[in-house]
Amino acid sequence: MNSSGQYIEIWNQCLEMFKKNIAPQAYKTWFLPIKPVKIHNNVLTIQVPNKFFFEWLEEHYVDILKAAISKEIGPTARLEYNILIDHQGNGFPRKETAETSGNKKDSHEIVNPFVIPGLKRVKVDSQLNPTYTFDNFIEGECNKFPRSAGLAIVKKPGGTAFNPLIIYGDVGLGKTHLAQAIGNAIVEHNEQKQVLYVTTEKFTNQVIQAIKSNALNDFMNFYQMIDTLIIDDIHFLSNRPKTQEIFFNIFNQLHQAGKQIILTSDRAPKDLTDVDNRLISRFKWGLIADIKTPDLETRKQILLQKAKKEGLELSPDIVDYICHHIKNNIRELEGVVISIVAQSTLNRRMVDLKLVKDIIKQFISQVDKEISVENIKQLVAKHFELPVDKIQGKTRLREVVIARQLSMYLAKTYTNSSLKTIGDSFGGRDHSTVLYSLKAVQDMMDTDIVFKDTVTALEKKLEMTLQDS
Ligand code: ADP
Ligand code: MG
Repeated sequence: MNSSGQYIEIWNQCLEMFKKNIAPQAYKTWFLPIKPVKIHNNVLTIQVPNKFFFEWLEEHYVDILKAAISKEIGPTARLEYNILIDHQGNGFPRKETAETSGNKKDSHEIVNPFVIPGLKRVKVDSQLNPTYTFDNFIEGECNKFPRSAGLAIVKKPGGTAFNPLIIYGDVGLGKTHLAQAIGNAIVEHNEQKQVLYVTTEKFTNQVIQAIKSNALNDFMNFYQMIDTLIIDDIHFLSNRPKTQEIFFNIFNQLHQAGKQIILTSDRAPKDLTDVDNRLISRFKWGLIADIKTPDLETRKQILLQKAKKEGLELSPDIVDYICHHIKNNIRELEGVVISIVAQSTLNRRMVDLKLVKDIIKQFISQVDKEISVENIKQLVAKHFELPVDKIQGKTRLREVVIARQLSMYLAKTYTNSSLKTIGDSFGGRDHSTVLYSLKAVQDMMDTDIVFKDTVTALEKKLEMTLQDS
C-alpha cells in the first residue's frame, strides 16, 4: 500500500487527532513543521527539521504519535523519522534515519539514550557546547573560586578533592558556562576521557523513558561508562524521588570508581527542597563553590567582550551606563548588546546614550529609581563623619575638599546629572570646578591605594542601594 498521496492522507488524519489532544501552541510548534514522506510496509516515514525536534517528540509525544498511527494504519504500524541535520558550519542539511523508540533492541547492546535509536555510535557525544570555554569566561572576584577549582579538575579529573564539584548561584551568572568550559577543557586535554553533559530535565526524561521501556539496567550501564559527568540545574531534582534514586546509584558508582562529577544548582545544596538527605550529604563530600553577582569592573569586561564579539563599539559612558543598570544577570548584559546591534542596524539608529537608555528600560523596570546626588552626599558625609552642609559649603579644609570632590565624582558616575547640575547642587560651583574635581579624584586613586579602597567601598555601597531599589 504505497499509492502516491496515501501517506499524506494518513498524516492529515493523524494531525486531526493531535490537534484535538494537544495545546494549540504545542501543536503549531511541534506538529505543523513535520512533513510526511512515504509509507511502506506499514512504516510511515516523517521528516523533522533536526535531531532536537526528534528527541522532543520522542520525549513528550511518543504516546500520542503511537496512538495516532496505530489508529490510522493498524496495530503493526511503525514510525520512522528522517532528520534534517544541519551540521554546524557546513550549512548542508543531511538526512539521517531513526526509528521511534519502543522497538526491540539487541539485548547486549548498551543503549545510549542520547543516540537516535537505530544509529550506532561507539563514542558517546559529550553534548557539550563548544562555545563555552575558559578563554571566553571572564574572571572576577565573583567566580574566582569555582573557576580555579574547575581548572584544577581539568588537570586531574576525579583525582582532586573537588569531587563532586557543585557550582551554585543565581540564574544567568555563568554556572552552565563554567561547567561546560570544564568539560570542554577535559576533552581537549584528554580525548579518551568520556565526558557527558546533561541537564537535569533531560536526565529526568531519560529515566522516565527507561522505566517505561523496561530499560533501566541499560540506562545505568550507559552512565557508568562516563568518566566526567556534568549534570546541570540539579535543583530540578526536587520532588522527583525516582530520578533521585537512580541518580544516587549512578553517583555512588561513578564516585567509587574515581570518576569526576560536576553539578550546578541555583541554590546551595543545604537549601535544596524535597531532595533526599542521602544525596545532600553526598554533595558535601566534594567542593561547594558559589558564583556571586559580578562587580562593576567584571560586568564592564564581560560587556566589552560580548560587544566585541558582535562587532559593536561602545563608548565608555555607554558601557558605564549599561553596567550600572544591569547588575544581577549576565544573560541580560548579552541581551542588551544584541538589542543594541538589532536596533542600530534594523532601525538605522546611532548608538548613543539615548538609544541605550531606551533599550535598558525594556530590561529593567526600576530604571528611573536611580541614586540621587543627595543620596551620594549623605553617604560620603557619613563615611567621613562630616555634616552634609560642609560638603556642599565653601570650606577649603583639605578633608572636606576631598569629601566634596569624591561626592562629585560619584555623582557623575552614578547619576545622569550633567556637570552643571552637579556643580549647582554643590553650592553653585561651575562645571569646570566639577571637571577639576573628577580629575583630582582620578589622580588620587592612581597614587593613593588607601584612597582607592575608600572609593571602591563607597561604590560597593551605592551598588547595593541600586540592587535593593
Ligand atoms: P547560568 O547557568 O548560571 O544561568 P549561564 O552559564 O547560562 O548562566 O550564563 C549566562 C550567559 O552569560 C551565558 O551566555 C554565558 O556565556 C555568559 N557568562 C556568564 N558568566 C560569564 C563570564 N564570567 N564571562 C563571560 N561570559 C559569561
Ligand atoms: Mg544554566
